[in-house]
Amino acid sequence: MTSRTVSRGILFLSAMVLFVVALNFPIAQSTAVDVPDLREELEGQARVLAAAGVDVMLPEYLGGTTVHDKPISDCITAVDACAAAGLPVFLGLCNVSEKGTLMRGESFQELVAALKGHPMDGILLMCSKPEEISACMPNLRKSYDGPIGAYANLNYAYEKNPKWGSSPDEPLNVLDFGEYTPKRYAEFADQWKEMGAQIIGGCCGTTPEHIEALGPVVKP
Ligand SMILES: [Zn+2]
Repeated sequence: MTSRTVSRGILFLSAMVLFVVALNFPIAQSTAVDVPDLREELEGQARVLAAAGVDVMLPEYLGGTTVHDKPISDCITAVDACAAAGLPVFLGLCNVSEKGTLMRGESFQELVAALKGHPMDGILLMCSKPEEISACMPNLRKSYDGPIGAYANLNYAYEKNPKWGSSPDEPLNVLDFGEYTPKRYAEFADQWKEMGAQIIGGCCGTTPEHIEALGPVVKP
């Protein structure tokens, strides 16, 4: 991928030989961040990362957490800022709703209309439960004809490791992904692919085994 134009062909995360940089959006508590400053800050980070050789910018945790209680305009700010570095920009939308909307009820249609003309190359649903992504993916597909995808949060729950302290190799916490086994996650991924997803990966709580389980789905 050498230009800003991203192919609309199937592009699965497991097959990507790219250095994707996720730029986490400042969370709501960052009330001191003003939007012009935010634009400047993100653009500065994007230029540094582009100079370091990354392939794709991924401003994420957008669409839910906001600086000024305006999720959609924050998405525009982030996309424009990251695009200034001249690389493809995928927008990562967090905490999407099981009602099929963004976290606070805005529709995907509304979001895509607002982003028309802005340099965005794909939309990914992220850090949301698999069921929430399944509820939103059809609406996203209907609203946007560019590349779409998802990487879910499988319970950001950590349990204290009972074996902690017994050896230097034992971690303090162990991850608990509950019912979302790698096999189950692959079933969700297959559903998203049927719904039109072209990029699939994992966010919080996913393990190397979850990513491995996506293999047969994304590379049948
Ligand atoms: Zn996450």
